[in-house]
Amino acid sequence: MAENTFAVQSVRGMNDVLPTQVAGWQRLERVTRELFTAYGFEELRVPIVEHTALFKRAIGEYTDIVEKEMYTFTDSGGDSLTLRPEATAGVVRAAISNGLLRGARLKLWTSGPMFRHERPQKGRYRQFHQIDVEAIGFAGPDIDAELIGLTARLWRQLGITRVKLKLNSLGTAQARRVYREKLVEYFRGHESLLDADSRRRLEGNPLRILDSKNPDMQALVAAAPLLTDHLDSESREHFDGLCAMLAGMGIDYVIDPRLVRGLDYYSRTVFEWVTDALGAQDAVCSGGRYDDLIPQLGGEAQPAIGFAMGIERVVELMGQAGAVDAPLAPHVYIIASGERAQRTALALAERLRDDLPTLRFQSNMGGGNFKAQFRRADRSGASLALILGDTELERGVASLKSLRDESGQTQWPLPDLAARIPAILADLAGPTEAG
Ligand code: ATP
Ligand code: MG
Repeated sequence: MAENTFAVQSVRGMNDVLPTQVAGWQRLERVTRELFTAYGFEELRVPIVEHTALFKRAIGEYTDIVEKEMYTFTDSGGDSLTLRPEATAGVVRAAISNGLLRGARLKLWTSGPMFRHERPQKGRYRQFHQIDVEAIGFAGPDIDAELIGLTARLWRQLGITRVKLKLNSLGTAQARRVYREKLVEYFRGHESLLDADSRRRLEGNPLRILDSKNPDMQALVAAAPLLTDHLDSESREHFDGLCAMLAGMGIDYVIDPRLVRGLDYYSRTVFEWVTDALGAQDAVCSGGRYDDLIPQLGGEAQPAIGFAMGIERVVELMGQAGAVDAPLAPHVYIIASGERAQRTALALAERLRDDLPTLRFQSNMGGGNFKAQFRRADRSGASLALILGDTELERGVASLKSLRDESGQTQWPLPDLAARIPAILADLAGPTEAG
């Protein structure tokens, strides 16, 4: 590949979000910000880069992410750093290192790019984006139910219907130790059927084998013993409590005893919103409890639960549901012809923006004759054209013309424009004003 070509291509699996695509992102960002605030969650922003050791310890050595997907590098000071592959580790690190934990109950959210060296395909990228919610210091199933209720409300607000909720409980670490032995015994009995990854995990973390995406492994995984049958009584109670609350809230779910999730830190409740509308990718929003993670990272023990949704996947679902706003057109497009008129037009536009701060004024840039400027005005989607010419200017007037109907052109003294424009727009109120 010639050096030039190389330099102007984006890195594989890392995408631009073009102006034509950005409306869905902005709507999702706006709706989630309002929803999180209404539920009492506060935004936290954490770095994109953290010490590699943080992710190894939080996510677990025997996971796809840590084994083969992290963007890890040594900086010029010799530190091993990693581009974050997920958000929970950084949020927990921030809570510990800023002293936010100490007996506190934290409801936090964050969002931004995540990085995983996966095989890029539709809905699966190497730089992708997540919106992430974490609740720290809550032990009971009520917060589990509230988080799930929040996501269900989000789908409703976005018009997304092709999603369904899967639930499972992973029990406590102790319950998993008992189950782990059963599982190892089972997989050892079928060792010849295990792929290389699974064979390695058999020693390090056999539960991970259940999360294998290898189609050749599915039959073996399907017949494996179930964690649900080895749940400790407290986790069972927690899970039953959650299910009862969800039923009370009218939220449908299916219990999937094979849902284990791709990260090691989960315990008890895990959940995933899945869809059949995104081809090979079915996970839209995933999360769970991580009651043991914080002490593992050196913090005061606190139960916690969180989830993350993939922005690209949610935005795709929004597009399919027709839930993306059209870009906002200007209210007024300002046309000016003649040297003096063009100079005056810029100053006039600024004055109108001062006087009418809720309206959008777009000034014609780069000159052009009236015909060309009207063409641009039409293309901008504006409702109204404000027309300034040298001869009108001498008389201290400008014209307003509807771009929506044939109601013709009216002339107004410049000082009257700020009062006339809202009145005329109100008369015109049509489709693009509806939003
Ligand atoms: P998957 O099973 O699709 O690999 P995951 O279990 O690895 O997902 P999490 O680590 O729980 O996903 O991340 C939460 C959400 O982030 C997922 O539900 C999905 O919507 C999104 N996501 C995860 N990996 C990617 C990726 N490589 N590209 C785009 N979105 C992703
Ligand atoms: Mg994954």
